[in-house]
Amino acid sequence: MSYQARIDLLKDKVILITGAGAGIGRVAAISCAQHGATVILLGRTTEKLEAVYDEIVHAGYPEPGIVPMDLAQPIDADAESLVEAVAKNHGRLDGLLHNAAILGDRVPFDHYPIEQWNRVMQVNMHAVFLLTRLLMPMLQKSDAGRLLFTSSSVGAEPRAYWGAYAVSKYAMEGMAKLIADELEQTSRIRVNIINPGGTRTSMRVAAYPAEDPATVKPPEDLMPLYLYLLGSDSQEEHGRTFTADWL
Ligand code: NDP
Repeated sequence: MSYQARIDLLKDKVILITGAGAGIGRVAAISCAQHGATVILLGRTTEKLEAVYDEIVHAGYPEPGIVPMDLAQPIDADAESLVEAVAKNHGRLDGLLHNAAILGDRVPFDHYPIEQWNRVMQVNMHAVFLLTRLLMPMLQKSDAGRLLFTSSSVGAEPRAYWGAYAVSKYAMEGMAKLIADELEQTSRIRVNIINPGGTRTSMRVAAYPAEDPATVKPPEDLMPLYLYLLGSDSQEEHGRTFTADWL
């Protein structure tokens, strides 16, 4: 399918993107802003978020919000204040893109470092649960709420040596499908999963160090799919997993 988003697709929408300071999240933030959204940039490195903020403002797109938050830390208290801040500063929430993740080691299961297991599960799974749980009431109020989870091929089918990353994505896919099932008849929120596939970012370089990055697609190529799933044109899509092949 070839989809081209209208330039005003996300006008007046407020979309929160985790891991918005780098990689796919950064490009998604700029692309959503370019299509009219006020984006809330959440990430752990303030300087990177500020650089994305500057890029968006410099381009003349709606001024974004910045939320520095380390998703590896227990975030209960921070998350409560996040909800208050979104409500106070933006008054609404129309989209939540769960994008932030960490890779962790690829080692045999019985060698997997225990502390790292906990950290990967915290960032890739527990934080996703908590942010969704806390922000869902605001998404419910939107006339086109969108909840978009980012998975991976190893989230659909865990693979040897991919450790906590694969398990966290597999669990997150289960959570997304459970939420989709619960909301199907009762809510306007559309819930979907995106598997970006090999994409030129620092995570990809860490996973495949011998690969020539020039042979891998840049995040920009994925943006029609992200825009489709975050905008009102995807009202009929729910509980599905989308890959770059869709493009
Ligand atoms: P990157 O590593 O390039 O970017 C990840 C982003 O998440 C960064 O902005 C990073 O912030 C942020 N992040 C990491 N840890 C935390 C944390 N503890 N708290 C807050 N933010 C954090 O990854 P990609 O852009 O490649 O990946 C984006 C998504 O796509 C991920 O969910 C990944 O699993 C998925 N994916 C990617 C593929 C690929 O080939 N690139 C393939 C399949 C799936 P900072 O920069 O400050 O560290």
